[in-house]
Order: sequence, then structure tokens, then C-alpha cells
Amino acid sequence: MADVLHVTGEILLSEEESVGELWVVDGRISFTPPTSGEVETVHGFVLPGFVDAHCHVGLDAHGAVDDETSEAQALTDRDAGTLLIRDAGSPADTRWIDERDDLPKVIRAGRHIARPKRYIRNFAHEVEPEQLVSRVRAEARAGDGWVKLVGDWIDRERGDLGPLWPREVLTEAIAVAHEEGARVTAHCFGEESLADFAAAGTDCIEHATGLLPETIQTFADQDIAIVPTLVNIETFPQIAAPAQEKFPDYHRHMLDLHARRYETIAAAREAGVRVYVGTDAGGSLPHGLVAQEMEQLTRAGFSSPEALAAGTWGAREWLGRPGIHEGEDADLVVLAEDPRADVRTCLDPEHVILRGARVAGR
Ligand SMILES: [Zn+2]
Repeated sequence: MADVLHVTGEILLSEEESVGELWVVDGRISFTPPTSGEVETVHGFVLPGFVDAHCHVGLDAHGAVDDETSEAQALTDRDAGTLLIRDAGSPADTRWIDERDDLPKVIRAGRHIARPKRYIRNFAHEVEPEQLVSRVRAEARAGDGWVKLVGDWIDRERGDLGPLWPREVLTEAIAVAHEEGARVTAHCFGEESLADFAAAGTDCIEHATGLLPETIQTFADQDIAIVPTLVNIETFPQIAAPAQEKFPDYHRHMLDLHARRYETIAAAREAGVRVYVGTDAGGSLPHGLVAQEMEQLTRAGFSSPEALAAGTWGAREWLGRPGIHEGEDADLVVLAEDPRADVRTCLDPEHVILRGARVAGR
């Protein structure tokens, strides 16, 4: 490998700004040409590494997986250009990934917190409302600045989606997370739970299919971000199908949330709610779908540059991680065509560069 990687073309620093070249020296970005060293050149449209803000490494449909499987998941994400993951809950200890230069960076939210029998088996710490506050404190300490709660799930007595937590307990738990320096996000499909979480002071909501005009306004006013995971929402009819006979209200509800998903996210975008790219890989969905999720956002009224921002510059800023800046790790995706013209270009990166090393590409 050459000492210096010279990256030329259009380096997209933000939605508006670009420069013509940068250099990678010792794995880091420099805008000043080095005076010595063997130089290798790559050319194209250059973005900061993609961000999957809702991904699960160390998890499959049955619960925790071994390290080898976790590694394969992280490699699949990396090869698709995802170089920063916000892990939205994992029962496996994946701290070892932080020691590996060839794997994406991971921001963890600890393990999901749910109630007994009110979420997918083997995923979550299952606690009753009395234990929520102490569990949130523990997960805030175990994670990397995020805590993940399950906000709603099918309530079999009700026969429909129902919130897991009373609002008062939630308010206390979120305050404790903030006291510990962590932000809170929650899995919310239906209308009720996301209103409870907003009232309780959450920072973010996953899926958010139950947003209505009133709650959209609240989210905008309180600057609550959403990660819709549209590639996952697309599977709502399959998720709900087994319940059709026994829980017809739930089934209808899920189909309705699914049917209006693009309208819901479009309305949130129009109201100024922050929206970020997340795939929900790891439970039942495969890894590596970050570009598909960006493309999904364009179906909800996002322009290609806006969808890119939701999966690169904007997401990095929101998570407190650098984009393309002097002295920072060279975590870059190089594309053959301009992604601002068509975000689908991101489906097929020319080069994926992680910490200055070309780790994947065509
Ligand atoms: Zn998830």
C-alpha cells in the first residue's frame, strides 16, 4: 500500500459545500498535500462513511449471536459503506469491535429494555415498571450515550398495540438517563406510546409510524428526532399476518400504519422534525441495507441531498461524530456518479475507505 492516498473528484463536505481533493496520511484526512511518500489516487464523488442509526450487531431473530456472526454482520454493513453504527440494542457484548480497525465504529445503546412477554423473546432486559428507573441507569452506564426502550408492542388483552410503560415512570426514567449523560430512544409503532415518550422528554423515536399531526408538531417543537426504518416498516404486513385471526384490531392497525408510512414521514419532514437513516438490521432484516433506506426516504418526499444528509453529514453531527474534517479518521465512501443527483448511486460504492484503508469496493 502507498503511503498517501490522494482522493480527487468532488469531496462532498456537506449538502452545499465541496472541494476537489484531499489526502489521507496515516489514516487521517489532510487538505494539505504531503511533501513526501508514494501516492496512490482514487477518484469520484466522496461522502463521509454512511451512518446506520438503527442497527443491531450481535443479534439475530432468536437473540444474541456469537462473535463470529457479529463480525460477519459488521463486515456486511462496512462493505455497504456503513462506517458508523448506532446500535439500537443488543444482548451480546460487542465491545471487542472497538479494538478492530477493520470494523465500523459502533455507538451502543446497551440492551433493549422491555416488559416480560411484551417484546420479541431473548432480545431485552425484561423488567416491570418499578424496576425501569434502575435498569435505565444501568444501561446508560453500559452504553455509549444512548438507552433504548421498547415503547409499545401487541397487548394481547387489548388485542392491539399498547404502551409498555406508565407515563410517570417513563418521565422519571428518562430524567435518570439524562442525569447519566445518555440520550433516550424508543421503539414506538403506535400513536399512544410516542405521545407518552414525547411528554416524558425522550430524545428520539424509532419507527414512529404512529405520528399524527399533533404529535408531529410536538416532535418538531421539542426537537425529538425520528429514525423511521422504512425498510423495516415495509415488512409490517408480514409481521402482522400471523395475528390476523386472533387479533384483528392489531392486524388492521399495523396495516394502516404501513399504508400511510410515506405520508407520515413526509409530514414529519415538512414540519421540520429531524429524520435519520436506520435499517433495523439484525432482528429479522439483513445487514447492509443503508442505501436502500436512503432510497426509501426519497419516497417520503426527501430530495436525494436530503436523504444523503440523513445518512451522512446530518446523522454524524447529531451523533457527535466528525464528517470529512482535517485530522479526523478517513472514513469515506467513494462513488462513481453524483449521489446528489440520485441517491441510488450509494447502492454500489467504488471504494469504501475506513481509517484510511481501502476495505471494500467494486
Ligand atoms: Zn431494532
